[in-house]
Amino acid sequence: MDEVLIIGGGFSGLAAGVALAEAGRGVRLLEQKSHLGGRARSFLDPTTGSVVDNGQHIIMGCYHATIQFLSTIGTLDRLRFQKHLNVHFIDRKGRLTVLQCAALPSPWHLLLGVLRSGSFTFKEKLEVLRLGGSLRRQRAMGHSSERLSVREWLTNLGQCERLQHNFWDLLCIAALNEDPTVANAALFERVLRLALFTSPEDSRLAIPGVGLSELYVDAAAAYIRSKGGRVECGQGVVGLLVSEGQCRGVRLSSGEQIEAESVLSAVPSFQLAALLPGDLLRQEPFFAPVVFLRPAPIISINLWFDRAITDLAFVGLRGGTVQWLFNKGKIFGSGEHYVSLVLSGAHRHIARGKEELLDMALLELGDFFPEARKAGLLHSLLIKERFATFSPTWEAEGLRPAARTPVRGLYLAGDWTATGLPATIEGAVQSGYTAARAVLQDH
Ligand SMILES: Cc1cc2nc3c(=O)[nH]c(=O)nc-3n(C[C@H](O)[C@H](O)[C@H](O)COP(=O)(O)OP(=O)(O)OC[C@H]3O[C@@H](n4cnc5c(N)ncnc54)[C@H](O)[C@@H]3O)c2cc1C
Repeated sequence: MDEVLIIGGGFSGLAAGVALAEAGRGVRLLEQKSHLGGRARSFLDPTTGSVVDNGQHIIMGCYHATIQFLSTIGTLDRLRFQKHLNVHFIDRKGRLTVLQCAALPSPWHLLLGVLRSGSFTFKEKLEVLRLGGSLRRQRAMGHSSERLSVREWLTNLGQCERLQHNFWDLLCIAALNEDPTVANAALFERVLRLALFTSPEDSRLAIPGVGLSELYVDAAAAYIRSKGGRVECGQGVVGLLVSEGQCRGVRLSSGEQIEAESVLSAVPSFQLAALLPGDLLRQEPFFAPVVFLRPAPIISINLWFDRAITDLAFVGLRGGTVQWLFNKGKIFGSGEHYVSLVLSGAHRHIARGKEELLDMALLELGDFFPEARKAGLLHSLLIKERFATFSPTWEAEGLRPAARTPVRGLYLAGDWTATGLPATIEGAVQSGYTAARAVLQDH
């Protein structure tokens, strides 16, 4: 009998596995696919041989659990941290501005950055400072902006339409993967506090200098194995074995049953729903809400050109349908003219055909970067992640379950569980650590 069975080999399952293995527990991790990494993985593009992520991932200095996880498995040096937060924006007229934070304690690092930035008009700078001031005062008052959408919250805080459109919306969609008109303001407020108003170190961005899989997948699996644990791909779990209020193991698609002292599910919400016995899902108030979490999609458009279209490593596209451009050739140092465009919160675009999306992206790129009009497109690869994250509306917050379940021996992890964060790598890693801690406390 295995001590702890973990279902799912994404960030949350691997983080839980590493924590449990580190604590001396016997771990067996089962992943249904032939590869680990889940929604944060990379692969080799067969045409170009380039390393392609299933979608560009950004990490921040405030991702403390993720940084701890990568340190434990020995790959933190594969992340490229900025010295200070430094983000470029470009508009459709090709006008480039930068928001660069200063080497000062919080909140002065950000305030000075905003004051010096060409990204805002004088009036907008005052509005950003006003929002920063309210965030600080609200913390003192314990005020909650729950049940407001990000749009309502920003408007209430006197942020004009242009500033919302050109700045806050880009941050909201990047952080929450949802449109500001429906995204939960309380979650956005928490993200802003953690990311922008805690310390200059926490505000820095970090971009993986390698493909996502190389960042953590093999090293995490090797760490678990080095402690005597097992990590197995191609092992699809089709059901949880639950009797008399106790989870006793899992059933695999091969028909095999594996018994375990504890089972830690680290699969997305809709996949957990398929594993739970029907009566538990219907009748147990703890699990029933899980099926109501809705997905939010992300589309990544990878383009290989015959020449450079920008020198920047990444840039926010103001007023574009596509929100961010990442210069992958530059980030990986591969010398390729390979860029990846990110379209988050992509509900309105996910059903559009690949050709249509490609045409739209190329047309927009030509507005932002005139060089792109002259460049020849060598190759393209479009990736639609329909279930990229859960949609973080305020209704969703009440549907997210804790790590410890009413079924003895069954624990939950995953970016969608009750982490208090949006669906992010940091949420996933924190959830894995929380579930691992619950297993250790109970046994
Ligand atoms: C395109 C894109 C861009 C993103 N950008 C960012 C970003 O910039 N910054 C950021 O912080 N986050 C980002 N995210 C979110 C981040 O990728 C996720 O929050 C994180 O990877 C979720 O990890 P997880 O372990 O919770 O779930 P997953 O990665 O989904 O892992 C679950 C695993 O369980 C396996 N599984 C499911 N069912 C079974 C079963 N029955 N049996 C066995 N195995 C099973 C799956 O195959 C999968 O490998 C992005 C996500 C996407 C898709």
